[in-house]
Amino acid sequence: MTDIHDFGDHFHDECGVVGVWGHPEAATLCHLGLHALQHRGQEGAGIVSAQGRELYAHRGRGLVADVFADEESVARLVGNRAVGHVRYSTAGTSDLRNVQPLQVEFAGQKIAVSHNGNLVNARSLKAELENEGAIFHATSDTEIIVHLIARSKQKSFMNKVVDAMGRVEGAWSLLFLTPDVLVAARDPMGFRPLVLGRGLNGAWVVASETCALDLIEATYERDVEPGELVLIDDLGLTSFHPFPQSPRSQCVFEYLYFARPDTSLWSRDVYSVRLRLGERLAAEQPADVDIVIPVPDSGVSAALGFANALGLPFHLGLMRNHYVGRSFIEPTQKIRDFGVKLKLNPVPGLLKGKRVAVVDDSLVRGTTCAKIVRMLRKAGVAEVHLRIAAPPTTGPCFYGIDTPTRGELIASSNTVKEIGHYVGADTIGYLSIAGMHQAVHDDEGGYCDACFSGRYPLEPRGDDAVDQLGLFDV
Ligand code: SF4
Repeated sequence: MTDIHDFGDHFHDECGVVGVWGHPEAATLCHLGLHALQHRGQEGAGIVSAQGRELYAHRGRGLVADVFADEESVARLVGNRAVGHVRYSTAGTSDLRNVQPLQVEFAGQKIAVSHNGNLVNARSLKAELENEGAIFHATSDTEIIVHLIARSKQKSFMNKVVDAMGRVEGAWSLLFLTPDVLVAARDPMGFRPLVLGRGLNGAWVVASETCALDLIEATYERDVEPGELVLIDDLGLTSFHPFPQSPRSQCVFEYLYFARPDTSLWSRDVYSVRLRLGERLAAEQPADVDIVIPVPDSGVSAALGFANALGLPFHLGLMRNHYVGRSFIEPTQKIRDFGVKLKLNPVPGLLKGKRVAVVDDSLVRGTTCAKIVRMLRKAGVAEVHLRIAAPPTTGPCFYGIDTPTRGELIASSNTVKEIGHYVGADTIGYLSIAGMHQAVHDDEGGYCDACFSGRYPLEPRGDDAVDQLGLFDV
């Protein structure tokens, strides 16, 4: 998703995966699925298909439409089974070597891997493997998984995968494709989503989000459960639960921002959850204003919920330019807040003289928000009341979300009042952690909220802890 938050004032999306088994146009369906998952990663995309004993691949840097601009690039990916990936680099650099699906061959076994998530013991495992002579080609932590599979003493591919995944810790929603099988796996804590569907001709489809199933007219069957490995081959689907049970830690931020609003996530519509986040925010942090406006696009649903709950008019007071790419030429004469202005412009006739509540889904560094407040004041807004449909973001994520270091998070070292002063708002109000859990219907626990609460379900240790704090590149 190219969004106002691309200017660096937001947690970044992670990666998206899709796999198809048993359809003559498997690569085409993967291609469409990747378009639906584009919001989960814009730095690279790829698809690997299988036919006979061969794998066929195409991958590149950039958006799905650019990587697969040439029709032949998909047509060449023959076979009735395929996996795809969109990437945002959470671990490893963003060069082509890290674009997935990762593809390897060892002892005559060809494998392609698509990974969404981050390992918290990547650095120590990598050091151990290098000591034993392993040579790494890319810098992403997914390659560690492949090395562990290659070194496993188990006989079958499935047992090798179980062996390898028993050694890694962290977040992994994974797809493995060989000429013979498609394996879908989700870590025991279930940080990242992974869903299973049935497509045209009875094909199996596995994807990060249900919006990918919708596009290719596949029906949602069920989630891949935390700790489950699903093996799909020509005989059908077999489910395994080889790992010890762990408490669930599904990422609550998927509801707040990462997942698409039209996705159904962990049995709830993301859109409805975001409305509820806005309603809870209104109950906890009401504002005496004339109108409510969202920061587009990610603040829209929460702003609607906020406005409805308070009986206030909702307006699109900030207009987004949808046609701005990711790179642009800066004018030589510096225009203040140029980057944000290129993307967003206030509607002066609507805003002039009004007391306005501005609703956003989260606040990370505060820099973009400060620019938006300045723009609104310049457009003649009488009062700006900032409302955030999430609690203060106080810590980084170790589980597959690209976050700034703790020091860059404005809420890690400033009070709410200080943040309000920094961004220049008349008042500021955040949703409480309890309110957030209520909004996501979290009656039994089961969600990770570590970047808000500091309660990390899996702490990186030793060198990995140093690495996760951004001192090393993996
Ligand atoms: S730390 Fe935050 S972003 Fe990371 S998994 Fe937990 S809730 Fe999600």
